[in-house]
Amino acid sequence: MRDDNCIFCKIANGEIPSATLYEDEDFRVILDLGPASKGHALILPKEHAANLYELPDELAAKAMVVAKKVGSVLAKGLNCDGLNVVQNNGEAAGQTVFHFHIHLIPRFKGDEKQVKLTWEPGKLTDEVKEEVLKLFP
Ligand code: 5GP
Ligand code: ZN
Repeated sequence: MRDDNCIFCKIANGEIPSATLYEDEDFRVILDLGPASKGHALILPKEHAANLYELPDELAAKAMVVAKKVGSVLAKGLNCDGLNVVQNNGEAAGQTVFHFHIHLIPRFKGDEKQVKLTWEPGKLTDEVKEEVLKLFP
């Protein structure tokens, strides 16, 4: 399924040109136009799914294999010091384009000023632990 109003549907299916690093039957991997770092890439399924919850299981599984494949080439080729695999769902989580995608973000020592993916660690309370554990009886 495609969504005619979705820019990532158009890019993934080749209707809008993009700097494509990898393509197969199900995915296109492109360079992000607003990169966090050198080599920042996006894995786009060709089929429209707004987010991870909507993504069919088969594509979810294949997406991680693509992340491994392309991430490995980026890491080796760019000689980076690390690689973040990031996937945002919902505005509150930073999602701005509502077509599922995975970010591959090469990391270089000392780039923390430019690339911010950290949080202040809290403390796991018994109350919260019980609440969340109850979701998985
Ligand atoms: P999100 O915030 O939804 O997880 O990530 C959306 C990403 O898509 C951002 O990093 C943004 O720079 C990138 N982006 C948005 N529009 C375009 C576009 O038209 N082409 C490309 N290559 N990247 C885009
Ligand atoms: Zn789409």
